[in-house]
Amino acid sequence: MEPSENIQVDFDLAAELAPFVIGGSAYACFQCGACVAECPTAAHVEGFSPRKVVLQILLGDRESFESEDALVWKCSSCFTCLERCPQGVRPGELIAAVRNWLVKKALVPKQLADIYNAVRKEGRTVPRSSAIDRRRKELGLPVVPDAPVDELKSLLPQLDRGKKEKK
Ligand code: SF4
Ligand code: SF4
Repeated sequence: MEPSENIQVDFDLAAELAPFVIGGSAYACFQCGACVAECPTAAHVEGFSPRKVVLQILLGDRESFESEDALVWKCSSCFTCLERCPQGVRPGELIAAVRNWLVKKALVPKQLADIYNAVRKEGRTVPRSSAIDRRRKELGLPVVPDAPVDELKSLLPQLDRGKKEKK
């Protein structure tokens, strides 16, 4: 969204995000940029800015978020921006809210979806293998117990990228 464009504010987006917001409020943001100054992701990822994310929420700029590769997925959740913001906007938590909203739409980067589904299926991020078990034994490490996968599956809905989540 460029400053020169005619902007139609979509107020519905803030309402959709509201159930996912734990703390903070985009409405208090006066766009000072203090959150950007020490954001490690903004320093390394072109185009990423917590200030801009807050503005996009305020404007209801869905197009900036509705993608599996949306920049909000680059946030490292360090929460430095929460400490820097003079207005209590808590941009990092608003970014987390946008991400949770995107999960409901199954718009998740492939790597994250793979990790999530691995945890759901096996209770671990790295699949069990006989090679790993053998190496652990050689190193004198204890056998890793099986995870309660039935319980995990009841807690974590299947996440298929591009499809809404299902039980
Ligand atoms: S520091 Fe707070 S008020 Fe300033 S731009 Fe960032 S979110 Fe907005
Ligand atoms: S929580 Fe995200 S947006 Fe906030 S400072 Fe850390 S990386 Fe930047």
